[in-house]
Amino acid sequence: MNKIKQKPVIYIAVLTAFVLCAYQTKTIVDPPNDPVFNNLDQTVSPGADFFMYANGGWIKRNPIPPAYSSWGIGNVVQEEIRDRLKKINESALKANAAKGTGTQKIGDFYFTGLDSAGIEKMGISPLQEQLNIIDQAKDEHDILNAAALLTTTGTRNFIGSRVGQDDKNSSKMMVQLGQTGLGLPNRDYYFKTDARTTRIRNDYTTKYLPTMLALSGWDEQKAAVGAKSAYNIEKFLADSSRKLEDLRDPYKNYHKISVAGLNRITPGIDWDDLFTKLQFKAVDSVIVGQPEYYKAVDKALKTFTIDDWKAYLRLKLITSYAAYLNNAIAEENFRFSGKVLRGQKEQLPRWKRVLDTENGLMGELLGQLFVQEYFPERSKIRYVAMVEAIRQSYREHIQKLDWMSPETKQKALAKLNAIHPKVGYPDIWKDFSTLNISRDSYAGNVIQARHWSYMINVNKLGKPVNHQEWNMSPQTYNANYSPSNNEITLPAAQFLIPGIKDDEVDDAVTYGYVAASTIGHEITHGFDDEGRQYDIKGNLKAWWTPQDSVKFTQRAQMLVNQFNSYVVLDSLHVNGKATLGENIADLGGIVLGLDAFKKTQQYKDGKKINGLTPLQRFFLGYSLGWLGHERDEVLANQILTDVHSPGFLRVNGPFTDVPEFYKAFNIKKGDKMWLDPDKRVKIW
Ligand SMILES: [Zn+2]
Repeated sequence: MNKIKQKPVIYIAVLTAFVLCAYQTKTIVDPPNDPVFNNLDQTVSPGADFFMYANGGWIKRNPIPPAYSSWGIGNVVQEEIRDRLKKINESALKANAAKGTGTQKIGDFYFTGLDSAGIEKMGISPLQEQLNIIDQAKDEHDILNAAALLTTTGTRNFIGSRVGQDDKNSSKMMVQLGQTGLGLPNRDYYFKTDARTTRIRNDYTTKYLPTMLALSGWDEQKAAVGAKSAYNIEKFLADSSRKLEDLRDPYKNYHKISVAGLNRITPGIDWDDLFTKLQFKAVDSVIVGQPEYYKAVDKALKTFTIDDWKAYLRLKLITSYAAYLNNAIAEENFRFSGKVLRGQKEQLPRWKRVLDTENGLMGELLGQLFVQEYFPERSKIRYVAMVEAIRQSYREHIQKLDWMSPETKQKALAKLNAIHPKVGYPDIWKDFSTLNISRDSYAGNVIQARHWSYMINVNKLGKPVNHQEWNMSPQTYNANYSPSNNEITLPAAQFLIPGIKDDEVDDAVTYGYVAASTIGHEITHGFDDEGRQYDIKGNLKAWWTPQDSVKFTQRAQMLVNQFNSYVVLDSLHVNGKATLGENIADLGGIVLGLDAFKKTQQYKDGKKINGLTPLQRFFLGYSLGWLGHERDEVLANQILTDVHSPGFLRVNGPFTDVPEFYKAFNIKKGDKMWLDPDKRVKIW
């Protein structure tokens, strides 16, 4: 269970620029090089719309390019990283490296990805083995076998299995079963009746699904019938799927069930046999997130015909590999997933798409080559120290809380002290030696890599938890907190501010950008409405006094109400309950980062830089983390499927709860950014 601080995913950071010194600043920057001054839109008053005041200048100068659905600081870093990845791939391509080496795998993967003539010629033949298994199915048992085969080669279908830590015994790896199986982004897309969702659903059922079946070789009539069947199965499963906000209660999504018990709940599924096909060994019990979903699967297996299921599985397979197949299939896939769902106007150039795919499948193989050059040990030391500054700030906050009992405080402090930071890049890299990549076929390589990754996960069953493993590559522009491990992961790329050397960035901006928006945010996840339910060892276990839990929940409810009131697009408003954990983490990150910043010399000196006070620059530094804008399609999608609030509200929302913000920008009653003091939320 990861708590992603969502930003566009990126590759490796250009970190040559990071020269290490302690925290003290440094150069006073000129306006053209100032990482925050230059983004301002001074025609907007900070009290009217702080996000646009902070970032509007940049947004006006940087419209969203046609091939993108959003454009912001993450994308700018991503472009730089891709350029460098390209150079590594191009030299691997020419290297003629020995079979089995990392260079050979990178070079051959890139070769097949760029070989559009070869891809065109092969059509859907790389999927022939899976297609045969689906086509030969005669009964429900065969359908389950086909679904298992698809799962092991990385095609998601109605079986949602994986190996992960037991929420109540974090040292044990268990088979986990969760709801899945849909083709639209989530269950709401099957039922919502607003114009935007209806338009997407109509396109999906009448254009996208039948076209994909036809492109897979079915005649028009068979494709039209098959599309209806597949959609009906998805809608049936969607009807038994939980809503976004209902997936956030860890107790309600935890059901430890023996395999015998599972067989009783779903008599139409032979789980012993299915687990064998899924390559799980010696399973006696599993954790089921949503038992009612598997009851629905069991019912669906009896309700729908074998032909219905064949169409469903065929579509799952074709759509999951569409981006790596011939042009007609790849284009139709982009038309729906890129244009209709996300508002992109055109596809990214092929080389960028190939790099993105390669990075997703073999991220650490590329990451190793990058950090050697771009993230020196001294950078790691610097940011580990910044984690400690935030940890200290959090200690002081907990000690001063007026609503928490000494008993709970003691345990909270112990949990805080135990949070393990992973900074920059892994100490031990993933071993890719058993991954087989060749120059035969692009889709074939993706199948190989997905199967390899599937087996890595499956083989964790029955083994001790590997605490050295990273769940993100160092070139990822993101970060997370893992409740089961009580740890934060901060990849190297996340520290980068494009276009400026690290030692030229003043502390105010760095404390806003890194300490508050990333480190403070992730640490606070250990104490958000979900994370707080896990103890020091990462186990789901009540450690709060009941009174303290009630007081926490009352404060959290104020934040739910605050975010429920934000209307984003059309009639769509933020889902305060679904986004609560992220909003708590944002608010926590800001107040912790702010108090850590107050200990620096820059804050104490109070000198202005380019007309901005240290306090102002701190808030602008935090806003820089959310610099960017997105298309309406993305916003609408995000509201329905994402537990993060839209970027502008991750700034404008929590700032209205922070007293220093009012002081820094002289916000007055009557301003849009004003929130009455009794409505301001303070949790941590
Ligand atoms: Zn988060």
